[in-house]
Amino acid sequence: MITPSSLPGLTYWVKTFGCQMNFHEAERVSGLLEAHGLIPVATPDEADVCVFMTCCVREKADTHLAGQVSAMASAPTPPSGRRTVAIGGCIAQRDAENVRKSMPRADIAFGTQALPRLPELIMRSRAARAGRLFVDVEEPYDAFSSDLPQVRANAWRAWVPIMYGCNNFCTYCVVPYVRGRERSREAEDILAEVERAKATGAREIYLLGQNVNSYGHDLEGQPSFAELLREVARTGVDRVRFTSSHPKDLTTHTLDAMAEEPAIMPHLHLAAQSGSDRILKAMGRRYGKADYLALAREAHERVPGLALTTDLIVGFPGETEEDFQATLDLVDEANLQGAYTFIYSKRAGTKAANMPNQVPSEVTHARLERLAEAVQRVSAQAHEKLKGSLVEVLVEGPSKRAAGILVGHSPENFTVHFPLPEGADAKTLTGTIVDVDVKDARSFYVQGEIAGDAR
Ligand code: SF4
Repeated sequence: MITPSSLPGLTYWVKTFGCQMNFHEAERVSGLLEAHGLIPVATPDEADVCVFMTCCVREKADTHLAGQVSAMASAPTPPSGRRTVAIGGCIAQRDAENVRKSMPRADIAFGTQALPRLPELIMRSRAARAGRLFVDVEEPYDAFSSDLPQVRANAWRAWVPIMYGCNNFCTYCVVPYVRGRERSREAEDILAEVERAKATGAREIYLLGQNVNSYGHDLEGQPSFAELLREVARTGVDRVRFTSSHPKDLTTHTLDAMAEEPAIMPHLHLAAQSGSDRILKAMGRRYGKADYLALAREAHERVPGLALTTDLIVGFPGETEEDFQATLDLVDEANLQGAYTFIYSKRAGTKAANMPNQVPSEVTHARLERLAEAVQRVSAQAHEKLKGSLVEVLVEGPSKRAAGILVGHSPENFTVHFPLPEGADAKTLTGTIVDVDVKDARSFYVQGEIAGDAR
C-alpha cells in the first residue's frame, strides 16, 4: 500500500546537470525529500533513491546522462534492497518516451512542473513492480518550485528564481518548449524568500530567470525588474547578482540600479551569442551587433568598474569564416571579460535543427579554440589590472585542485585564489567576506593574500 510513511529512512542522492535553475531545483528536491524523511548520502552506491536533474540544452549532456543512468544497473544493492532512479528536469519534460528507450533503468520521469509530486511518484514506483516507468510531465503553471522546502548547497548563497520560462523562441533553443512561457513570481514572495535566506546565513542572493529583464510583464501591478532589484538590494543582504539578461530587454533603469545600489554587484552577464548580424537574425535574437555594442558601451559608462561577460555560440548553421570573425571582433570591441563559449548543438524540434549548411565539426572545434583564446586574452588583461589592489572577496571554500588554497569571487565575479592563513580554519572562513591583496594574475583567476579580518 502507498502511504506517506513509505519513505522515511530511505537514503537519497541527487546529481545535477546544466544551469543555475537546475541547481536551484535540485536544492528543492533535497528539501522536499528531507521533509518526507529521506536521508542524504554522498554517493549513488549508498542511495535507495537516485535523482538526476537533467538539462537538454546541449546534446553532450544527454549522452553523459544516459551513461550515468545505465551505470546504476551494476551499482551495489542499496540499504533498502531496491533502488529507485528518477529522471527530472528538461530531458524528462521534452521526451519521456526517449527516457523509456534510452534509459531502461529509470523508474520515474518527472517534468519541470512535476517537482512537487516527486515524493508521491517515488511511493507509487516503489509500490509497483520493478521495470515500470512512471511519467509525470503535466504542466500546472500555477506551481513554482520556489514554494517548496529547500536544502541549500551553500549557506552563504541563495538562488532565488524570479520568473520561469521564456517567450523568445531563439531558433536554436529548447527552453521555451520544456519550461513553457514566461511566468513571474509575485514580488512579495520573492522578497520574503530573500529575507528567509538572509536570516539563515545567505550573504549573496542570485536572482534567476531565463530573461530577468522581462520580469513582471505577465503580472498586473508588479515592480519592473530594475525596481525589484533595488528592493532586494535594500533588504540589507551583502551581495545581489542576477542572470540571465537578453540584450533586447536590458533597460537603462537596470543599469542605474546597478550603479546606485552598493549591494548590486558590478557584473553583467549579457548573452550576445554571435557578433554577426546575419547569424543573429537567423538565431531570432532581435538585435544586431551595433545594438549590442551600444548597450555594452552604455553599461560600461553607467556602472563604474563593471565586468561584462557573455555567452557565445560557434558553428550556428550557415556560419561563415566572416561571420565567425565578427564574433571574434566582438570580444575586443565590447570588452567581454569572460564568456561561456559553446559549439552549436542541434536540438530536435527547434527551427535551427532543420536549417541547411550545418557546419562540420572540425570547423566548429577549430573556431571554438580560437574564440576561447580571444576571451582568455581579454580576461587576462582585466585580471592584470587588479594586480596590486585590494579586492573584496566572498569566501566560497577550499579549492578542489590545490591543497591549502581558498577560492572566492570579487564583486566583478573574478575568481580569486589565496592561501589559508596560518592557524585559520577553512570552514570558519567560508561564507565570510575578506579583503585580498592581489599579487598575481592568470587567465582564469587572480591570486593574492588575505589582508585584515574576515567579516
Ligand atoms: S532567450 Fe532565447 S536562448 Fe534564452 S532561454 Fe529564451 S529562447 Fe532560449
